Amino acid sequence: MALIVQKYGGSSVGTIDRIRNVGRRLMETQSAGNQVVAVVSAMSGVTDKLIGMARQVMDNPPEREMDMLVSTGEQQSVALLCMAIADMGGKAVSFTGGQAGICTYGSHTRGRIESISPQRIIDALRSGYIVVCAGFQGMTPDGEIHTLGRGGSDLSAIALAAAVKADLCQIYTDVDGVYTCDPRVVKDARKITVLSYEEMLEMASSGSKVMQARSVELAKKFGVIFEVRNSMNNNPGTIVQEENPAMESLAVRGVSIERNQARVTVSSITAPVAYTAIILTALADAEINIDMIVANTAHDGKARQSFTMNMNELGAAQAALKKVLPQLGPEARLDTEAGLAKLSVVGVGMRSNSGVAATVFRALADAGIHTGMIATSEIRISTTVEASDIEKAARVVHAAFHLEKEA
Ligand code: ADP
Ligand code: ASP
Ligand code: MG
Repeated sequence: MALIVQKYGGSSVGTIDRIRNVGRRLMETQSAGNQVVAVVSAMSGVTDKLIGMARQVMDNPPEREMDMLVSTGEQQSVALLCMAIADMGGKAVSFTGGQAGICTYGSHTRGRIESISPQRIIDALRSGYIVVCAGFQGMTPDGEIHTLGRGGSDLSAIALAAAVKADLCQIYTDVDGVYTCDPRVVKDARKITVLSYEEMLEMASSGSKVMQARSVELAKKFGVIFEVRNSMNNNPGTIVQEENPAMESLAVRGVSIERNQARVTVSSITAPVAYTAIILTALADAEINIDMIVANTAHDGKARQSFTMNMNELGAAQAALKKVLPQLGPEARLDTEAGLAKLSVVGVGMRSNSGVAATVFRALADAGIHTGMIATSEIRISTTVEASDIEKAARVVHAAFHLEKEA
């Protein structure tokens, strides 16, 4: 008998029929002799709708109340799923994050998992129940509800799989696995059979939101091997696990795109030497995440610093930087540019294959696409392009590495 954790995302439970489909799959898994823990997202669109309603009430809703509100999306779907299972003659019990023993700390709307006490889950499994846990949420020791950031049900699933020492962790979604690029953008993208944690992490954090990046970090930390699969069929999916030498044969495994990027530039900086620290501290204090960072000093001795960030945070970044601008010299100025997107190529084979960057920028240049800021890690190369060019950029770079062909 195996203990299996299965996570179902929003589109997999997006309608009552789909909820029944998930119920049926869980019952089949149990009937095959397994213990099953399901981790379920809100029905697709529900979280966005709740956030939209809050914003209609006020501009900046208190984060505690946001957590109270959006955590209800998952509570609806877990209860409906257990009802569907009961209707089909099965035995299931739903738990909120708190009831499942997920203990969190940190700030509202971006809680972090401190620990998991899965005794209640284990007792229910022993009594023959299919256990259905609300994803995306946990509770502080003093009973406050936290949500875990967008896409956070992936994190709940990985954390629960680690806590109950699951034999198998399956992430069910609306595509067959992790593809060489978002199949909605590149039609001939291929499903990747096996991917390393590092590659999945770099892809997720550069825009391939099929998995939440934090969940991949946690999987790596606890050695949770997981498989991304389709909830509408039984095709084999993508296994994500520790790197092995075979993965290095290809320089590039996948292409990610991230829309909604903006660039901020502080220029004519004349003082002081520690300007980067002043700028980054101001942004960190405002809890703003930035991405690519470039600094340089022109021949007139004035420095400039640019960075990219999500467009949603641009207003907050401007406000935070305006406060410290006077400390950077009398002429220091702030410029912003919206309407950018980021293209990244990822692969552990990049460490041992040269010429990857040249191929990326040659393909983009041949397609007449202008590139802006560039950033690299050991296994990733990213560049900004105009938002209107991003899909074409993804297609030409995908083709340049022949990713449509079988590996
Ligand atoms: P869920 O609701 O199951 O959590 P998500 O919408 O979060 O599903 O993730 C699945 C979607 O991720 C797919 O429909 C696909 O469009 C998108 N996606 C982006 N990049 C990739 C990729 N490299 N491989 C597969 N899907 C991707
Ligand atoms: N419902 C949450 C979201 O839309 C969590 C999740 O789906 O993973 O972000
Ligand atoms: Mg998701």
